[in-house]
Amino acid sequence: MDDLLKGLSSFRDDVFPHEASLYRRLAKEGQQPQALIISCADSRVMPETITQANAGDLFVCRNAGNIVPPFQTANGGVSSAIEYAVVALNVRDIIVCGHSDCGAMKGLCHPERLGSMPNVGAWLRHGHAAHSIVCQAYPPDIDEEQRVRAVAMENVVIQVAHLQTHPSVAASLARNEMTLHGWFFDIDCGSVLAYDGQSSRFRDVADSEPIPVAVSGRAEPHVVPEPANLAMAG
Ligand SMILES: [Zn+2]
Repeated sequence: MDDLLKGLSSFRDDVFPHEASLYRRLAKEGQQPQALIISCADSRVMPETITQANAGDLFVCRNAGNIVPPFQTANGGVSSAIEYAVVALNVRDIIVCGHSDCGAMKGLCHPERLGSMPNVGAWLRHGHAAHSIVCQAYPPDIDEEQRVRAVAMENVVIQVAHLQTHPSVAASLARNEMTLHGWFFDIDCGSVLAYDGQSSRFRDVADSEPIPVAVSGRAEPHVVPEPANLAMAG
């Protein structure tokens, strides 16, 4: 903890003076973050660091397992962060970021180890589908490390799906004003894989090509055929 306290002084005295004009502008004008990122609370996954973001760039929501509970009217921290980012801050990109060696994903694979952590166990139920997919649709002979990695990636895809149950996100997608991203951060090599919703695969994020996206906004906002649209409008 001593190092963190020294860090406070170091930030104030050495770092902040170089960024003072940015912070003062943000204090005066408010924030307009480029994206909402929902990442794991793991101390090795630092959203601002891996994206090289500055103050004001990222609206961040972190929790064990980068979980997005499906929409419900009961209040929740993740739901509130999503609603605020989309409605109040007009954020147009949401990233769900999982990672390698994730303790929450190990918990999903071994629920028997969560006996003394009932809240963690209950929270991770929002990721059970990822575990089921890996248990029932992946080769049965994959080793433990591969299994945890596969669950973490499937969990990112599941949580991106849950995002679409949130009314603010669903409406923004229908207006073609929202893009959803599913990322996987490899701790040991520092690289990010991005989920490509078109090919259902995670791909390396290469500088030379546009970053793969999980879900794009709808080009056509209405699913109801034209005459019904006219009837509803009239
Ligand atoms: Zn994690």
